Amino acid sequence: MNLTRTSRRLADGREIIYFDDTPDAPPRTAEDQRPLGERALSGELRHDALVGDWVAVAGHRLNRTFLPPKDECPLCPTGTGSVPSEVPEAAYDVVVFENRFPSFAPVSDHHPDDGATDDLDRTAPALGRCEVVCFTSDHDSTFADLSPSRARTVIDVWADRTAELGALPEVEQVFCFENRGQQIGVTLHHPHGQIYAYPYVPQRSAAILAQATEHHARTGRLLGADILAAELEAKVRIVAESEHWVAYVPFAARWPVEVHLAPRRDVPDLPSLTPAERDDLASVYLDLLRRLDRYYVTKDGSPIRLPYIAGWHQAPSSRGREVSRLHLQVMSVLRSPKKLKYLAGSESGVGGWVNDVPPEQIAERLRDVAL
Ligand SMILES: [Zn+2]
Repeated sequence: MNLTRTSRRLADGREIIYFDDTPDAPPRTAEDQRPLGERALSGELRHDALVGDWVAVAGHRLNRTFLPPKDECPLCPTGTGSVPSEVPEAAYDVVVFENRFPSFAPVSDHHPDDGATDDLDRTAPALGRCEVVCFTSDHDSTFADLSPSRARTVIDVWADRTAELGALPEVEQVFCFENRGQQIGVTLHHPHGQIYAYPYVPQRSAAILAQATEHHARTGRLLGADILAAELEAKVRIVAESEHWVAYVPFAARWPVEVHLAPRRDVPDLPSLTPAERDDLASVYLDLLRRLDRYYVTKDGSPIRLPYIAGWHQAPSSRGREVSRLHLQVMSVLRSPKKLKYLAGSESGVGGWVNDVPPEQIAERLRDVAL
């Protein structure tokens, strides 16, 4: 597939990259006419000495756009709504741009000496990058509605961004994810995902890396490969299989709906996938999303669009590559057609997860969904 990649700058200097998969796409030359002023600087990272983790403090994010009406959507092409959007062109296939209200940004006014006097008040500049990925210019669509070739373009975009952002000296972990549905906290309805390039390895990624490192030291094998082999042997939690991919509900699923999607071949990250693996991923991921969108139905039998978080776990950019194995995690807070699971006392207070739904039951229901 031929992808035309065009990098441009928005009025405040942020990068926007068009990824066009239609052969007759015009050159992307439109200028951003908005009077935007200076781009936002990064906030600061504060080290939480109590649990040994970092927190990005970014006060400017309080002012970000919250559920605007459709004609003021900042992700639609300019000219389709009543105000100029973040995308100066009148049309696009897939587009990526730097978030206007980033948690991590390439430029900081943080001074390394500020307050960093002892171990209990360590700070660091929240350097890195936060990007928005618009999956389609169709405001009322959703990822599950994309054609396989457009989904394939998004996969290439994730791989492109992982490679480029992971090569930045300040970046330690690249995380491509999508929040879908207001119940997840989505502030814009337009179908889009995000990419965070963190200047540190976040807590869950660090836990995954530590487990994989320990397993490899003890057995000489990849933990992700052993987990996949165990799921294939047990069969009861398998949701879907294809030539290159396997979708399963994890043995110790935490969420009322949770599925992992892993490649059959050992690969550390998205850029390592072959063209055949990417083609197959596009169709198996669309199949999985369509199952999830039919997991719950209303009393009259119409499907309920599942609010979900989907995120790619991949190797950190500067360590642990040899023990890391790529997988996608999709999870939902919806525990019945009308009830949300709240991350309440046990989960939020001490990280003690309780799941009311047996993982084998989630898998059986997802396998049996009528597509
Ligand atoms: Zn829109």
